[in-house]
Amino acid sequence: MLYTQFIDGALTASSNRESWINYNPANNNPLGEVSQANDQDIEAAVNSSEKAFHIWKAKTGAERGRVLLKAAHILRSRLDKIALLETQDVGKPISESLAVDVSSAADALEYFGGMAAGVHGEFFDLKNAFGYTRPEPLGVCAGIGAWNYPIQIAAWKAAPALACGNSMIFKPSELTPATALELAEAFMEAGAPAGLFNVVQGDGRVGSMLVDHPRIAKISLTGSVSTGKKILTGAATQMKRVTLELGGKSPLIIFEDADIDNAVSAALLANFYTQGEVCSNGTRVFVHRQIFDSFLMKLKGRTEKIRLGDPTDPDTQMGALISKVHMEKVIRFIDSGKSSGATLLTGGFRPEEDFKGRDITSGNFLTPAIFTDCDDSMEICKEEIFGPVLTILSFDSEEEVIERANNSAYGLAAGVFTNDIKRGHRVIHQLQAGTCWINNYNVTPIELPFGGYKQSGLGRENSLAAIQYYTQLKSVYVELGNVDSPY
Ligand code: NAD
Repeated sequence: MLYTQFIDGALTASSNRESWINYNPANNNPLGEVSQANDQDIEAAVNSSEKAFHIWKAKTGAERGRVLLKAAHILRSRLDKIALLETQDVGKPISESLAVDVSSAADALEYFGGMAAGVHGEFFDLKNAFGYTRPEPLGVCAGIGAWNYPIQIAAWKAAPALACGNSMIFKPSELTPATALELAEAFMEAGAPAGLFNVVQGDGRVGSMLVDHPRIAKISLTGSVSTGKKILTGAATQMKRVTLELGGKSPLIIFEDADIDNAVSAALLANFYTQGEVCSNGTRVFVHRQIFDSFLMKLKGRTEKIRLGDPTDPDTQMGALISKVHMEKVIRFIDSGKSSGATLLTGGFRPEEDFKGRDITSGNFLTPAIFTDCDDSMEICKEEIFGPVLTILSFDSEEEVIERANNSAYGLAAGVFTNDIKRGHRVIHQLQAGTCWINNYNVTPIELPFGGYKQSGLGRENSLAAIQYYTQLKSVYVELGNVDSPY
């Protein structure tokens, strides 16, 4: 199979001879070939997106909203097909792609489709005059995606961009080229003008071409901090707007009065969902010393029961890491943890069989790992691992844990477990993180803004807050009297 681009309303093969093979993480069998977009492809995508932008921005918000709502309906009606494509591309369990990935993409289209008619400015009554503001679209926007949530990332960017009247060129990660094409098809079938949502394939070089292109007004990236910095630097030369959704090393704090079973459930969700490849994961689990041993015992027991194996099996709870290269990187972190003196309590090895006894040696599988006897200064407690590796740390006081939790260059997310309502809010208000939970973790409803503090990013996705990142505000002053001039 050939993963093409989607330009001007149709699947389009690139004239570029450079291509690569996309592999299934569960067995490293080839899924298909992907061509790297070249200059001509980018030019064609920009021309077609500009044309679509002029048609699209002339429509009313209600007209735009109807297209988004219809696209959401199309995605939901193809849930099984798209979920399977996502599972084969990413290696995540089909139970997750069915329950979360596709529906989260559709949620974004429904939310922003529903609010497209409500994007409005303000009116100001002035002395013998009045003023008003108009939130106007930016033009052609580019979305650049990571590989862990491909269709969700594409939709979280496209939905607010299109609702506000922009067009979008989207570049999925080179490791997951499939499902952005499904979203492009859905928009076309829903009645979007050709070119409203184009897809180009390629690696960071294609991302750079989008950043540098003078007719692209905005870049929205989901990716690593190092890529975010490069994009911010590149965008600065043309003063382009950016939204950056980057990595993290988030704290999850469990106080002694917490409901332990719920806290264990959250720690598992915060570390092992999608094989631990989630940006907001709470990988530094701080547990109050009073409950440390009982918490750890329960955590270990439930971690060892996680059903790891064939991602297409509906009973599987943990799949395969995205690539061999990434798996080796995660193994290096595990080795670093061991050599720095932490104790690997469980997991962290390549299993030979899955939970049903099937041979999985050809896939990128790693058993979920828990490190104890950790120190905040260890590499495994400081760096984003982006794999199934949980580090557990004990603490004694509220003040101490807040300081330690904030001692990070990242600030994407944070969680607190306590039954003391005052303490829950008091602690969360002092944590330097953009996306926070009290008594839960990694729940991301479309109604709430999502994004990071510090080096975890700039701007927000989802919620009404996303509108300001896909519009520019024009102020208009209207004189009702004479011009008061000293000349
Ligand atoms: P990555 O930074 O390697 O790549 C992300 C995207 O950027 C890819 O499409 C890649 O091709 C592109 N890219 C790479 N170099 C570029 C350049 N110089 N210019 C333009 N584009 C370039 O990240 P990844 O490995 O795909 O994803 C994992 C990272 O993403 C983790 O750090 C994770 O925390 C982060 N992430 C963040 C969020 C969030 O919402 N905050 C969500 C998912 C993943």
